Amino acid sequence: MNIIKAVMTLATITVAASVAASPAIPRDESIEKKIARKISEMTLEEKVGQMCELELGTITKKSPDGVFALDREALQRAVGVKKVGSFLNLPKDVATTPEQWYEIVKPIQDASMKELGIPCIYGLDMNHGASYAIGATLMPQNINMAATFNVELARRGGEITAYETRACDVPWTYNPTVDLSRNPLWPRVWENYGEDACLSSAMATATVKGMQGDNPNDIDRYHIAANVKHFMGYGAPVSGKDRTHSSISDMEMREKHFAPYYKAITEGKALSIMVNSGNNNGIPFHANALYLTQWLKEELDWDGLIVTDWADITNLYTREYVAPDKKHAVAMAINAGIDMSMDPYSTDFCDLLIECVEEGLVEMSRIDDAVARVLRMKYRLNLFEYPDTKYTDYPKYGSEEFAAVSRQAAVESMVLLKNDQSILPLKRGSKILLTGPTANSLRTLNGGWTYTWQGHLTDKLPIAEKYSTILQAMRQKFGTENIIYEPGITFGETEKWVGNWGPEHAGDLDAVVAKAVDADVIVACVGETSYCETPGNINDLSLSPNQIELLNRLYATGKPVVMILNEGRPRLINSVVSGAMAIVDIMLPSNYGGEALAALLAGEENFSGRLPITYPKHPGALVQYDYKKGEVAATMAGTYNYDATIDVQWPFGHGLSYTTFAYSNLTVDRTDFTAADSLRFTVDVTNTGSVAGKESVLLYSSDLVATVSPDVKRLRAFDKIELHPGETKRVSLEIPASDLAYVGPDGHWILEAGQFRIAAGDQSLLVNATATHRWTEPNKELVISN
Ligand code: BGC
Repeated sequence: MNIIKAVMTLATITVAASVAASPAIPRDESIEKKIARKISEMTLEEKVGQMCELELGTITKKSPDGVFALDREALQRAVGVKKVGSFLNLPKDVATTPEQWYEIVKPIQDASMKELGIPCIYGLDMNHGASYAIGATLMPQNINMAATFNVELARRGGEITAYETRACDVPWTYNPTVDLSRNPLWPRVWENYGEDACLSSAMATATVKGMQGDNPNDIDRYHIAANVKHFMGYGAPVSGKDRTHSSISDMEMREKHFAPYYKAITEGKALSIMVNSGNNNGIPFHANALYLTQWLKEELDWDGLIVTDWADITNLYTREYVAPDKKHAVAMAINAGIDMSMDPYSTDFCDLLIECVEEGLVEMSRIDDAVARVLRMKYRLNLFEYPDTKYTDYPKYGSEEFAAVSRQAAVESMVLLKNDQSILPLKRGSKILLTGPTANSLRTLNGGWTYTWQGHLTDKLPIAEKYSTILQAMRQKFGTENIIYEPGITFGETEKWVGNWGPEHAGDLDAVVAKAVDADVIVACVGETSYCETPGNINDLSLSPNQIELLNRLYATGKPVVMILNEGRPRLINSVVSGAMAIVDIMLPSNYGGEALAALLAGEENFSGRLPITYPKHPGALVQYDYKKGEVAATMAGTYNYDATIDVQWPFGHGLSYTTFAYSNLTVDRTDFTAADSLRFTVDVTNTGSVAGKESVLLYSSDLVATVSPDVKRLRAFDKIELHPGETKRVSLEIPASDLAYVGPDGHWILEAGQFRIAAGDQSLLVNATATHRWTEPNKELVISN
């Protein structure tokens, strides 16, 4: 095989890309001058060092107290000799305090400034709040943030994450995670904002803005650089397994999976992107010049930084088999558009990249471009001026002000799926049997990326004292004397993950049933233990047999059962849905989730969360809400029956409340439109019940007829409002006509003449595109609006 040909082929599949009319992030000329000067003074060794990111473990050793100690010699080798410009990860695999973070990052910055005159960029997975910092304000996981349909909460969450991350002397986080969760088996569903492009785009953009602040060229001490990941289509693996193959067409990729990245960059001004570890149609994302260089960098004229995921250059030859060895994998990835290699354990990337340049496998201009992108982010973060930020300057760290945001997000994220005979809110004074493996666990409320990668120590750390499990919160809210607790099933206590999933212990179900005798109502907390990435892989989406049995035994008691789902992905529960009087999906609401749930069950708060992902019903029917129209068809006339059905447990957007809302008077400011127009819709929403409530108003479009079989419906805009009983509010939502376009087989956006049905609640109307418009540029908004 001609290796060089193979390396260069994937890397040069770019076609002449049309560039956006203006850069995605405005350029600051003074920064550009500083970059140019710096690069002109740098050796090749210094340049490749800036492109390398190492794991903290490579420069630490065991300290006498077993906690943490920097290995000064290793630090000197990495920064002084190999010129490494970035580090990541946490000491001893567990979160630490801002004070300790300062002790870790400060010496690295000192060494970087002394040896290189360039600050290090330290990166951490602060994935739902500053989750690797003890005492920080953890937010609900992204799946919950999406369920709130409240973009302001997402923005505040980003802002708080930034503040508390900076309090740890860290200026970069690998979040938000914005992949569309199109396969519910995928173990990273909960890290993202659900299955829909519109919702994910809005949440991603708001979070990035919260993290980075208003000026991407001048990020202050209270903000950080966001890293939007994992570019892209990661949530649609064919097998449902982490880091595996997807089979997404370029049409769907651009129209849906690209959308959150596009918005996070063009509107949120995201400074960096991390790449999907898998491959699409056989081409690993880390070697895909079309996506990395053309779509991201050239078409958007985006000057940000692209970092690999964990060891993913090595994986090009050890897992994907598209390169014969690491050197060619390095050339392949760098030529495709990678700017920084998260090469956790060794600096051989640096040596190999130097060889690649010397042998002509990688052009010097590509190196200079990559280094410019690394330096640009460091300048934009003002790290040259103040490489460190100190915890003493962050008085709001872990404050009640921040906690209130997380608590509100938890309340607004919980989804009431079912509430027969208004069994909820629970009556005060009633005796409640609380059971199930997630009833008394902060670990399950938080999920992975919580103090550790797998989130397995959450209940054991001293910080756990500060927060309430569901059991503790229910005791506080309803009175200890009214809560009977018998878990029945417990999750394993493994320190590390074992096999694919932590073990589950079937406990004494007879004991649970015996205690039901004294209860007026049973609250059964079921779901999943914490997991993260590949350890969370499963072959069966069903809720575990033990837990199904527990529920059936509870139903047999004849007492009303309220099912609480505490899970990162929608586990199948079809056989046990009818037996429950009420079902609440709390997903992963984090440390204030227990309090939030107790307040909701008591009726002190009202439910307003909606599902950001379809809740499937059958193992073989894992569909999304935006399926093709033909997937639902009536029985045909004649001999053969070609009917088709979509049967889900609960649809995307489903969520009940303690009140009711009525929609009326849907109007639009123009019924005929062309591609350059924007359509403004108004609808009146009235609270027709007897308690106050929040309502997410979702506006959908359906293309009635199109050359490419249209999706049955698509979310196009949404807003969240609060209404007192009897109150009516007029909600105004805008849909740019270009949003009604789709990507055709030639890769171009097209808005076809014809009718669209627009719907909100039970209201709908028709609008009419009077002319067909086909965009010649790849990204329609940039062209239309500039
Ligand atoms: C994950 C990323 C994460 C990185 C660094 C990888 O295993 O896929 O999401 O940012 O590790 O910790």
